[in-house]
Parts: sequence; structure tokens; C-alpha cells
Amino acid sequence: MVDIRKVGIVGAGQMGNGIAHVFALAGYDVLLNDISRDSLDKAVALIDKNLERQVSRGKIEAATKAEALARISTTLTLTDIGPSDLIIEAATEREEVKQKIFAELLPHLTPTTILTSNTSSISITRLASRTDRPEKFMGFHFMNPVPVMQLVELIRGIATDQDTYHSLLKVVESLGKTAASAEDFPAFIVNRILVPMINEAVYTLYEGVGNVKSIDEALKLGANHPMGPLELADFIGLDTCLAIMNVLYDGLADSKYRPCPLLTKYVEAGWLGRKTQRGFYDYRGEVPVPTR
Ligand code: NAD
Repeated sequence: MVDIRKVGIVGAGQMGNGIAHVFALAGYDVLLNDISRDSLDKAVALIDKNLERQVSRGKIEAATKAEALARISTTLTLTDIGPSDLIIEAATEREEVKQKIFAELLPHLTPTTILTSNTSSISITRLASRTDRPEKFMGFHFMNPVPVMQLVELIRGIATDQDTYHSLLKVVESLGKTAASAEDFPAFIVNRILVPMINEAVYTLYEGVGNVKSIDEALKLGANHPMGPLELADFIGLDTCLAIMNVLYDGLADSKYRPCPLLTKYVEAGWLGRKTQRGFYDYRGEVPVPTR
């Protein structure tokens, strides 16, 4: 098995910064890449803030925070991360974006570099088949927010070998997290179940069965969910939710997965949830206000 020390992360958005945070805290050297300097700067500032919160809650020492931050470097040049032992692609959920990233990385990898994608829904087998190492390619699906969530889904493509799978199992353990193994079918386990539930909540809103407040309260108080489905959709990102529904719809060819037109409308408006400050709630004021 490869000894994994150097980890390259592509994409410094919501997920990339959380992944960088947990790897640095677990002692790995992290090189974070993005196409935007602003995203990289924001990611590092956010990691700093989130580590500080862990210090103030007594979960880690101040020295541990400083060591973790010192292990994170950033680059705008994708090929800089080629020589990593493990690469985690966490860029925008669009297949052509991911394919282009892997194609550009290939000539710069070491023979043993393990390639992974944090995709929520794209076929791991298909992404792997375009690379020179489908046997060293896996789905490495972290949950949001990464420093808080215990689960990591490990998805084997058809060609993934046992060594790669066991290497990643060890990595998950070293992060103090728990792995769930899923087969490579659309949206894997968590999102196959969770996102159609969110989509159904949007239909409930679209059809006027309830408003944002009543739908979220119903599920929080009536089903004991820690967050309402619309609040959760804003948290995940409405573009990501829509992309996952489209993958389920196309991949399983079943009309029960058709995305709600209202979800599409919010995405068309650029109201993508918390990351754009507006979605099913408006986050621009002191407290979130329902938008319907
Ligand atoms: P995001 O929009 O917050 O971040 C994506 C980042 O990728 C942006 O900073 C963007 O600048 C960068 N990027 C785009 N093209 C790039 C390129 N060619 N090279 C380098 N960087 C590039 O998205 P996110 O929510 O962090 O999602 C990232 C991935 O993680 C997606 O595949 C998504 O499906 C998956 N994911 C998301 C969640 C979630 O709850 N948001 C959970 C699990 C997995």
C-alpha cells in the first residue's frame, strides 16, 4: 500500500476547505488548488476561523491549530499537485470540469498517486475510465460540513483495486471518521435517499401544500430531523441538489426522480442557498427569512 503523506486538493469551495482542514489536522501535508485566488484566500481564512472555534471549545490545543495551518499551502497552478500521494478533486459538480482537471493532471502524477473525486453523483467508473489508472481511482465522498460530519462514503469503480480501497479505508480511519462503502450507482447511498426527499419538499412548496417555514418545522418536529429539508437544501447548495436530481433522473431513467421546476427556477435566479446568501431563505439580514 502507498504511504500517504502529501495530499493535493482541487477546488477550495465549501467542501475543499473542509477537506483541507481535516487532513491538515490529521498531520498530512496539504496543497490546495483553485482557479480563483479569492477562493483560496477565503478557504484559508475559513479554515483558520474553524480551527479557532475548535480551540475555543477545548477540542484542540492552540499549538495544534498552528501546526495544522502551517501544513496547508495553496496554488493556482493545478499541475503543482501532480506529485501528491493522494489527490482529492472537489471542484464544481460538472462532469466536463472534472474530466478536464484529470486530463491536465495525468502527465504530472507519480506512478502510485491515487486519484479520487468528491463528486456527489457522477459515475466514478466513467471518470476513472478517462484516466491512465482506473484501478487507482475511487469516489471519496465527504459530507458537509467536513470537520463535523462523521461519515465518508467510499465508492469503488468497476476497476478499482483492493490496495487502493484499503489505502483509503486507512486514510478515513486516520482522520477519525467512519467509512461506508457504496457501489458505483447514481448518487451512491446518502444522496440517493436524501436528495429526492429534498426534491419532494420543494414539490410540497411548489404545490402550495406548505410554505418554507411549515415544511421545515414539520420535518424538524415531526420526524426529528436536526434541520428542515429546505434549510438543508440551502446548506448543500441548490445547484448541487439540482445536479444530483438530474443525475438520478438520467442515470435511473425513472420519472420519480424528475427535478421540481421550482428548484430549477431558484437555480436560474442564482439563488443557490447560503453560498449566494439567498435560496429558500434570505441570509442577508440578522436572521434567515423564508423567501416563500
Ligand atoms: P463550491 O462551488 O463551493 O466550490 C467549487 C470550487 O471549485 C470553487 O471554489 C471553484 O472556483 C473551484 N473550481 C471550479 N473549476 C475548477 C478548476 N478547473 N480547477 C480548480 N478549481 C476549480 O462547490 P462544493 O459544494 O465545494 O462542491 C465541490 C464538490 O463536492 C462537488 O463535486 C460536489 O458534488 C461535492 N460535494 C458537495 C457537497 C455539499 O454539500 N456542498 C457534499 C459532498 C460532496
